[in-house]
Amino acid sequence: LPPSSPGAVRTTCPYCGVGCGVLAAPDGRIAGDPDHPANRGRLCSKGTALGETLNLPGRLLHPEVMGKRASWDAALDTVAEGFRRAQAELGRDGLALYVSGQLLTEDYYVANKLAKGFLGTANIDSNSRLCMASAVAAHRRAFGEDVVTGVYEDLETADLVVLVGSNLAWCHPVLFQRIMAARALRPTMRLVIIDPRRTPSAESADLHLPIRPGSDVALYNALLAHLDERGLADNAYVEAHTEGLDAALAAARADAADAAGRTGLDPADLATFLRWFAETPRVVTLWSQGINQSETGTDGANAIINAHLLTGRIGRPGMGPLSITGQPNAMGGREVGALANMLAGHLDWSVAGEADLVRQHWNAPNLATGPGLKAVDLFRALGRGRIGALWIMATNPAVSLPEAGLVHEALSRAPFLVVSEVMRETDTAAYAHVRLPALGWAEKKGTVTNSERMISRQRSLLPPPGEARADWWIISQVAARLGWGSDFAWTGPAAIFREHAALTGRGNNGTRAFDISGLAGLTDEDYDALAPTRWPVPASASAKSRLFADGAFPMPSGRAKFVAVSHRQRPEGAGLLTLLTGRLRDQWHTMTRTGGVPRLMAHAPEPVLTVHPEDAGGLTDGSLVRVTGHAGAEAVLRLRYDPGQRRGSVFAPMHWTAQAAPRARINPAVPAATDPVSAQPALKSARVKLS
Ligand code: SF4
Repeated sequence: LPPSSPGAVRTTCPYCGVGCGVLAAPDGRIAGDPDHPANRGRLCSKGTALGETLNLPGRLLHPEVMGKRASWDAALDTVAEGFRRAQAELGRDGLALYVSGQLLTEDYYVANKLAKGFLGTANIDSNSRLCMASAVAAHRRAFGEDVVTGVYEDLETADLVVLVGSNLAWCHPVLFQRIMAARALRPTMRLVIIDPRRTPSAESADLHLPIRPGSDVALYNALLAHLDERGLADNAYVEAHTEGLDAALAAARADAADAAGRTGLDPADLATFLRWFAETPRVVTLWSQGINQSETGTDGANAIINAHLLTGRIGRPGMGPLSITGQPNAMGGREVGALANMLAGHLDWSVAGEADLVRQHWNAPNLATGPGLKAVDLFRALGRGRIGALWIMATNPAVSLPEAGLVHEALSRAPFLVVSEVMRETDTAAYAHVRLPALGWAEKKGTVTNSERMISRQRSLLPPPGEARADWWIISQVAARLGWGSDFAWTGPAAIFREHAALTGRGNNGTRAFDISGLAGLTDEDYDALAPTRWPVPASASAKSRLFADGAFPMPSGRAKFVAVSHRQRPEGAGLLTLLTGRLRDQWHTMTRTGGVPRLMAHAPEPVLTVHPEDAGGLTDGSLVRVTGHAGAEAVLRLRYDPGQRRGSVFAPMHWTAQAAPRARINPAVPAATDPVSAQPALKSARVKLS
């Protein structure tokens, strides 16, 4: 599909945080955009199948109130009245929104503005809480702001790439292809995989460390102590640009004393990793959900950052820590502050004066005064009757949250539940009092930001189906019915983007790194034509070629911080196995889109539990196995032997829904334990038994 083809539209893939550029035509022809910096023409199996998702059956095409078709006016009136009533009964904290990394930045911005600025509640959280909240918290602790320091090119120019808790080959395939292509040209480049499973990514590695789940802090503390002992610290960098090293080193040395025992790694393999990292200046450490979805996720991410700070390997080409997000626009949500503990524009309640900047920018009558309920706590509050009105947008928490059985119960008791969705039937939408039809990927217009801070346009190639409308429009219409019409009176996504951009690059705590104020003056035409653009894009000065190259960090002191972290591990439990949950190569979240494409389903047509043969307890390969986990909750899956599965752990995919395979849903068996800093659920540490 050449860019000049009739009807070809330049847009962005909606499936993962790589953020590949796509050329798409209304007749379903799809190609990778050769001019997009993220993928340079490549696409993975999901991206190439996008054309087969354009006319999915089961779309929600009309508003519904109590299961019956309604006009937009009637549905929007009902939503406004439901929120008004809940506020009268329970106050502002009785209102909540649960949003999604599927939303475009403009939709996200409007939802956050309504909740935090006008409804007066910070009870707005995103399913990104399940994806990268630990990385966000670690960035904020280390740098003073949620900033991904590296870019994708670093993966190609590094001499050592370390993937921690990331099956990149399946979950971010185009990035993995880029690494493989670079290594083919430069065979001295090394790849290390740190993962309890011998994943498809590990098959290509020079070294695979099958680490004990949850012991990443011990490994990276051993690395920090090793680098220090060998005199490999970049003392000039540490002296000039960091603080807190002594405490971090003291904690690291304590863990290093028994690193092999804590991590369960072969001492020779561990020594090889320490040596390779020590002797290779150009090293990138990429991490993903294996770190983030843990009770020690934030500490694990900070332990990684510590090693890069000690060696000054940050803010320079081919080196640095690099967090990869799962969702296409998780980064955009972070930018507009659509997490319960953040304000828009990377501003922060805890910094004097920053809330006022938001209040003034929005002319907000009711700015929330502090953080609200995060995902797990939000649904617990719903179950306890403390939330009177909940609006869920573009996500399916009845499947994706831990303790999913309790989430179903909470949803079933919700006094007033609104669901904005593309599909009519989802596990979550089944409980909705009001269903609102939202635009899908091929119909939406706006922007997304990928894992390397690249803002890209998503452009529509099809007209709205039925009566479906843009999320930003739906939210604005409810705001108007609540009396705030003039504050939500945008003519389109370009106007919203301008307002969003104008709030950035401010802050009272020095200059925020997130600065796109240089885009605040885009005309509608400029916005339509916007090419992929990596932030920062300041209005007042030329952008730095590389963030933190000058060693200046957005901390009050201007220095990056070593965070002292210590290994913590829950007991494994006699006779129990550790359940790791995750994604499959060809499925997207709860399968609402990818599950309808036969060739994607063919890759893994049924939910399978992989187990090391010696942990199978006599259960035969191919049999059905009952997995019993949290509070006796069960799932039934096909059992498959996998000698690459670390002893003591099993793996199950998280995609299957009550509608697709009612007994195979895994998340009811996963407890809602969370990281104490980030509140990200630990989705890779449930204790289960098999029968
Ligand atoms: Fe889409 Fe991610 Fe695949 Fe790129 S790597 S085509 S963004 S799913």
